[in-house]
This record gives sequence, C-alpha cells and structure tokens, in this order.
Amino acid sequence: MRIVLLGAPGAGKGTIAKLLTDYDGSVQISTGDILRGAVKAQTELGKKAQGYMERGELVPDDLIMEIMEARLKEPDCEKGFILDGFPRTIPQAEALKKLLEKLNLKLDKVINLDVPKDVILDRLTTRRTCSNPDCQEIYNIKSKPPTPDGKCLKCGSPVVQRADETVEAITKRLETYNEKTAPLIEYYEKEGLLKTISSLSSEEIVEKIKESIKQ
Ligand code: AMP
Repeated sequence: MRIVLLGAPGAGKGTIAKLLTDYDGSVQISTGDILRGAVKAQTELGKKAQGYMERGELVPDDLIMEIMEARLKEPDCEKGFILDGFPRTIPQAEALKKLLEKLNLKLDKVINLDVPKDVILDRLTTRRTCSNPDCQEIYNIKSKPPTPDGKCLKCGSPVVQRADETVEAITKRLETYNEKTAPLIEYYEKEGLLKTISSLSSEEIVEKIKESIKQ
C-alpha cells in the first residue's frame, strides 16, 4: 500500500503505521523518527533540525523534502510505504505530488486519524519512547508500560520522555498542527484521496484502513 497518515500529534500515526507494516510488508517512513535519529547522532541534518524540534516548530520544508526524496528512492519502498508525519504543510504535499509523479507512483489513500483533543493531550503527556534510534518503540505509562525499571520490552534500551513532550512543546506542536497541517485535510479531500477514521481502537482503525484500500 502507499498511504499517508494524517492526524494531530498523539493521534496514533506511529502506532497504526507499525501495525500496518506487518500486513503487507510496506515500510513505515516517519520523518520524526528519521529526524530524532539524526539529532541523536548529531549529523549535519540533526544539528539543523534540533532547535525547531525542541521548540515544537516544523523543520523547514526544503530539509524535509531532501530527506523524503532520498528515502522514497530506496529499494525497500517498492513494496509500498506508510508516510507517518509527512507531509505536514501544503508545500510539502505539493512537492510530494511532484516527486511521486517523477517516480511514477500514486498514493492509494490519505487516512485522517480524527481523535478528540482531550484524548490527544492525555496520550502525549503519558507517552514514552524507546531511546534506541533503530527501535523507537512507543509506550504509554498507563496502557502499555515498559519494564518496571523503564526499559524497552523489544530491545532493552532506556525508555524516555521525548524532549518535545513537555507541556509547552506539546501546546506549541498542537498549534502548529492546527495552523500548518490541518489544511491538508481539505487539500486531500479535493484530490479525492481522503478517508477520515474516528475510531479509538488501533485494531479497528487498521481494519478500516485495509478495507478502504481494497475499494
Ligand atoms: P513527530 O514525531 O512526527 O511528531 O515529529 C516530531 C518533530 O519533528 C515535529 O514536531 C517537527 O519539529 C519535526 N518534523 C517531523 N516531521 C516533519 C515534517 N514532515 N515537516 C516538518 N517538521 C517535521
């Protein structure tokens, strides 16, 4: 499948993307995960992105498009891809359209995960993430805790609260989402690609996505 997952921070994009990769071998491409890996490794990209990320702002479109152009050309994308956290702005969506045309590829669907604001706030403040850049498994201190001493159940690395999950950064990320990313809902509606899903259970969401792709 070739899909985009749209939704506010905390809507569950990463969790759903990981579940979908088990379905047909499509790869999850999360610009947030790629950027966090680059920040941890202190690469040139990481150094440029770090400040924006810590403030809860978006990283400039040209940097993001450089990452995505290189990533979508990698051979593992041939089976399909699940774009998680990209595009985040109208210029990114327009650049993605051009890039896919160049690569002779088409999106199957854009899935908009519609989750109430109170659920989002609760999820973001209780979310924890594996600190290993190659794992980045997502935990929740209430519903999916790591080991009692705070280690990842998959790889054993420490599970941490992300630097951008303080109340200030979360508030800023939600504002950024409303201002810059929410307009993509109308953009993809007009493109005839949008499917909005309002369920809360991950299993139900995954089933609905599979159905909508078969149509
Ligand atoms: P995420 O893990 O998707 O919530 O992303 C974490 C942070 O990485 C965001 O708050 C942005 O600072 C940055 N980021 C991730 N994806 C993008 C994108 N497509 N465009 C701009 N910034 C991004």
